[in-house]
Amino acid sequence: MKSVIIIGGGVGGLCTAVRLLNKGFKVTVLEKENTLGGKVNIIKRNKFKFDLTASVLMTPDIYISIFKDIGKDYKKYINFVKLDTLYRVNYYDNTSIDISYDSRTMINTLEDIQDGLSKEYIDFLSESFKKYSISKSNFLDKDMIDIKEVININSMSKLIELKPFSSSSNYISSKISNEKLKNYLIFKSMYIGINPYDSSNLYTLIPAISQLYGLWYIKGGFYEYIRALEKLIYELNGSIKLNTRVDEILIDESRILGVRCKDKVYESNIVICNADYPYAIKNLFRYNLKRPFNKENIDKKELSCSVFILYLGLNKKYKELKTHNIYINKNFKESIEAPFKGEIPKNLSLYIYYPSHIDESICEDGYSALNIMVRVPNLTYKNINWDENSTKKIRNKIIETLKDLNGLEDIEEHIEDEEYLTPLDLEEKFNAYKGCAFGLSHKLKQTAYLRPHIKSKCINGLYFIGSSTHPGNGVSVIIDGSKVLSELIYKDYFND
Ligand SMILES: Cc1cc2nc3c(=O)[nH]c(=O)nc-3n(C[C@H](O)[C@H](O)[C@H](O)COP(=O)(O)OP(=O)(O)OC[C@H]3O[C@@H](n4cnc5c(N)ncnc54)[C@H](O)[C@@H]3O)c2cc1C
Repeated sequence: MKSVIIIGGGVGGLCTAVRLLNKGFKVTVLEKENTLGGKVNIIKRNKFKFDLTASVLMTPDIYISIFKDIGKDYKKYINFVKLDTLYRVNYYDNTSIDISYDSRTMINTLEDIQDGLSKEYIDFLSESFKKYSISKSNFLDKDMIDIKEVININSMSKLIELKPFSSSSNYISSKISNEKLKNYLIFKSMYIGINPYDSSNLYTLIPAISQLYGLWYIKGGFYEYIRALEKLIYELNGSIKLNTRVDEILIDESRILGVRCKDKVYESNIVICNADYPYAIKNLFRYNLKRPFNKENIDKKELSCSVFILYLGLNKKYKELKTHNIYINKNFKESIEAPFKGEIPKNLSLYIYYPSHIDESICEDGYSALNIMVRVPNLTYKNINWDENSTKKIRNKIIETLKDLNGLEDIEEHIEDEEYLTPLDLEEKFNAYKGCAFGLSHKLKQTAYLRPHIKSKCINGLYFIGSSTHPGNGVSVIIDGSKVLSELIYKDYFND
């Protein structure tokens, strides 16, 4: 039986483990932390349970696909709940728009705002969906290792069809005339940590997919998906070792030999690195690999922004909040662009996650849990040191901004417990390179063939999976990526 070592128990590592076990490989996952899931994790404090980062679940079919592919019934592992209101979008002038999954409700909402706005929105959805279909079948679901896959008449004509060169903001402005709807769509297009004012309009597919496929919630919180993957790995006789940090990936000139941890060497001819790609290239190899996998190449890459998250345990429930909420502040463009210029925005625009709206099981009766996320600069910017002082400052600014939302004026009085996540935590806990929340940036020049490859060309048996490699960031994207990678490995070892 071929044995595989996977470094890191993030979504990418776990999904690849499940798929390879099902294909008959012997798999061991080595995770440095004492929990699985990487950035998809959980904080349990006193009466409260918080999802650490990911909360927005799009395209449930992709989450289900892993169970289907190995012949299991997902309903025995996770319980999906469909959200009727996708987002409640609050604006600084005290107005709000509910983005509904139901098309009739949504059309009525938009027509109440402005005559003809629903048609503009439907046109936008239709074009953005086309972009999604083209990029999924031609780029995302391909391994993108061979240049011939990229430079051929078919893929080039598909790329031209995508018209990816104008920014999300310009593209949205060309389709939508209403400022409020426009800003909601711009906010959603930066979901993967890019600046929507200067990055490809490809990512407007994100709000379109949310609208067309809906948003879903897993009962108990996002971490239940990680628990399900862990269960699958054990059922398929895989091995997981927590608190096991890999210090070196062992190679000779052209072959993988295994990995070295503090007190043990794990030998294997197949190693998959799920630790963040730029961190791994810089830290886990004794020798510099050949281009493009070399350390110097990492310094040329553009990075995504980071996040600051405030977790609030409240002794009150707020009926004014839906599960997903957005607050669009004044000077919106400044608030969105600031993190990409190394600044904390003067006026914060927020993403507010309130699972207590839909799930009674995560807190005791009468209590509720709230995460508030703000995009902030990554750690390449040295002007913010994330000490107690700077953390308190942004925490207070968030609370003051929250009080501007209808019904949340008294929120400070009801805080019973609180916790923070800073870029430093992302770096220290999960080895997220420079504290980036979303890995290497998804600029066009770092997409598809131009993103770090999932298979090393110079070292036989070395593979990569995760946000910073192809196909990219986001749980469903990585789940799909694990399918591509496991099929590639199977082909490499059984179909020669
Ligand atoms: C704030 C935030 C919000 C997000 N929101 C969403 C969302 O709503 N929806 C969505 O779909 N996606 C969201 N994402 C993105 C999603 O969480 C990530 O794309 C995904 O979790 C990344 O998975 P990964 O496989 O790259 O691994 P990671 O999560 O990066 O895990 C890598 C693992 O490797 C381990 N590791 C690192 N170095 C070593 C070593 N030397 N030895 C052993 N183990 C090691 C780490 O501890 C970690 O467990 C969000 C991300 C962030 C940060």
